Amino acid sequence: MNEEKSVLYLVATPIGNLEDMTFRAVKVLNEVDFIAAEDTRHTRKLLTHFDIHTPLIRYDENNKAIAGAEIIERLKSGESAACVSDAGLPAISDPGADLVRLAIEANIKVVPIPGANAALSALICSGLDTTTFTFVGFLPKTAKKCMEVLEELKPHKETLIFYEAPHHLKATLRNLLKVAGNREAVLARELTKIHEEFIHGRLEDLIKRFDETEPRGEFVIVVEGAGDVVVNETAVSTLDISTIYQKFLDDGLDKKSAMRETAKRLNIGRRDVYNQIFAK
Ligand code: SAM
Repeated sequence: MNEEKSVLYLVATPIGNLEDMTFRAVKVLNEVDFIAAEDTRHTRKLLTHFDIHTPLIRYDENNKAIAGAEIIERLKSGESAACVSDAGLPAISDPGADLVRLAIEANIKVVPIPGANAALSALICSGLDTTTFTFVGFLPKTAKKCMEVLEELKPHKETLIFYEAPHHLKATLRNLLKVAGNREAVLARELTKIHEEFIHGRLEDLIKRFDETEPRGEFVIVVEGAGDVVVNETAVSTLDISTIYQKFLDDGLDKKSAMRETAKRLNIGRRDVYNQIFAK
């Protein structure tokens, strides 16, 4: 028997480890009249694993206009449905958000069934600031738009979270370095899977690592925010340079290293630091 009539459930599914499926997710997927899935073949495997026999229909980026309208009609007629993506939370860098909007417009109740999510799993293990953060997801594919988004994000003080495909990882790390400077970052790789790994380092170190071995698997990139320093040439003041240089000295670095680290942190040349500190 269905839990409730005319309800759209947004059901989280595992991002790698099937044991992350929740009891409630299994229950709801069993009880709804039908499941709208991003990839029915992929979801069929999940359903088979949990012995769920609910009918599946396809709802993805390509058919969402038509399939969305049909799903809403069925919900209005009293059926209940679950929306799932290939992994994690539907509507997070995955189809689902448009369906939610349609459902709300049609006065249909939308209920979350929470569970695995790659971005938050990466963030909580990153060691970076978790109090405020911006989830960016995938950057735009065209170089120009991608750089525009990064420029816009550059002064943000909060931690930044990106999704990236392995074959774009190196390019994205380089773009981040170019725009935001040599920030601290964490790559969360293959979360919840056998080869789960957290790779910590500054962007330059991470780029070097992947110059040696090609990235493989799924990645979330977590990058520290701009902190108190606005990493923007026009905004780097004399005060910033002196303060940061002094902080590195206080931390025990010699003058040369402190100059190098200050330049890296502010994304400016070493000569600029030298001129500011010594050439008065
Ligand atoms: N809806 C999903 C969620 O809630 O996390 C995200 C789907 S998005 C299409 C896929 C991207 O999420 C991947 O390219 C990768 O950046 C990230 N991702 C998904 N699963 C992951 C995993 N197990 N480990 C690391 N990153 C993962």
